[in-house]
Amino acid sequence: MTVGLTINPIHMNSRGVLIRVVPIGIALLVVFFQFFSAEKFTNPAGRSARLGLSTEEEKKLGFQSYVEVLKQNEEVKSGPEYELVRRVAGRLAQATGDDGKGFEWAVSLVRSPQVNAFCLPGGKIVVYTGILPVAKTEAGLAAVMGHEMAHATARHGSERLFKQKATQTVMTGVQFSVGDMDYGQQQAIMGALGAGAQYGVLMPFGRDHETEADTLGLLYMARAGYDPREAIAFWQRMEEKAGRGAPPELLSTHPSHGTRVGNLKQLLPKALEEYQKALPR
Ligand SMILES: [Zn+2]
Repeated sequence: MTVGLTINPIHMNSRGVLIRVVPIGIALLVVFFQFFSAEKFTNPAGRSARLGLSTEEEKKLGFQSYVEVLKQNEEVKSGPEYELVRRVAGRLAQATGDDGKGFEWAVSLVRSPQVNAFCLPGGKIVVYTGILPVAKTEAGLAAVMGHEMAHATARHGSERLFKQKATQTVMTGVQFSVGDMDYGQQQAIMGALGAGAQYGVLMPFGRDHETEADTLGLLYMARAGYDPREAIAFWQRMEEKAGRGAPPELLSTHPSHGTRVGNLKQLLPKALEEYQKALPR
């Protein structure tokens, strides 16, 4: 009995700890399961990643979004700008080679002042007319489209989704763990964790993706026979535009980190080699 009496406070204490720890433990177990059941993929940039979607799911969801975007925007279906965008997409698609195997590439030009372009998972590309003056030349357009297509071949969207799922699972575990605290305390903890996840997990991830898309995109454009030096000029024009207080929509989804142009310059010698090979003799 005396033993029981001395153990009791400790027992109470560990019960309190258990209430905190068990939900987080379960969440981590689920993340562990998510991690090992997720498809492992070595992307064209050579980095191994876990994915949240299969290629079939990517195609399906990508196509759904594509239809949705086209429903909400006016499509340009003829004329020199349309021909230009189609030509660049066709040459780049071919230049993706094995990276783009299984992709069903398609491109649409929509009439909008937005300085924007993207490529959905699975290969459906949308270019906004507003980006054409910033792209300036055909090679400038190839720079941004190559970058966008590289996000798709590297399956960045699917990887991001996987990380978001895992982060969400952990957050749910924590939410259960702090469920008995008062509302203010709960909000403070969840807020701090949310910010931590944003800056610690999801943001640097975005930086990786940008660098990879720059690297691959530069090679795609060079292999398609577009002068890779135009990529540097294009991103400099984008940054100038942002500096003048009119941040292009494209930059909100493709943060620049101030290191992009430096990276591109480093990658240029290899890209120029590919470009030389691609030029007609
Ligand atoms: Zn990007």
